[in-house]
Amino acid sequence: MKNKMKRMTLIALGLITFVGGSIFARTPTMPNDVRFSRGVSNCCYYIDWTASGYQNQIVSASNNWVDTGYGWNPIYMTAVSSNYATHMDFYGRNAGSDSYLNNSVVGYTSFWNTDGSMTSQKGQVPTYNYFYTEIVFNTDLSESYDYRIAKHEMGHAFGLLHTEDRYSIMYPTLFNMMVSTVQQGDHDAINYLYNR
Ligand SMILES: [Zn+2]
Repeated sequence: MKNKMKRMTLIALGLITFVGGSIFARTPTMPNDVRFSRGVSNCCYYIDWTASGYQNQIVSASNNWVDTGYGWNPIYMTAVSSNYATHMDFYGRNAGSDSYLNNSVVGYTSFWNTDGSMTSQKGQVPTYNYFYTEIVFNTDLSESYDYRIAKHEMGHAFGLLHTEDRYSIMYPTLFNMMVSTVQQGDHDAINYLYNR
């Protein structure tokens, strides 16, 4: 009887976490809430020829972030034909051309200053506001063409961190992610970060 009670308690706690995570929590933002120094109301993005195979995914992701279905947010995105003064630049690379990529990394986002230097090493979150970002897809992996990747990496570019909430586009692994679009918690994190 005791054991049965314990098990039930665990299950109940699990449910509470699940409901709270999916309905009430906004997706975590980076330490000190660092973000695009220029805001997100005029986000220009550039797709390098190496990422041309990801164009549909990128356009779909930008449309999803601009119109999440959860009300207004400040994001507006425009595709441009050069990487001059853009917010986000997209590239396709593989492990042979990018030492940060390996067979478990489908894509990543890096954070840059106005002078073209990185604010932090690849794979580490920036510690101060950044001017632009680079998003790299791993062309070695067929999973990199999954439509969730561009949405997830854009979330990082905007300033969002990973979450343990499987019902968020910012869940860190595709295998266990239960959604394919930007969710309320992701949308709320953008408004928290940029409406101040
Ligand atoms: Zn990620």
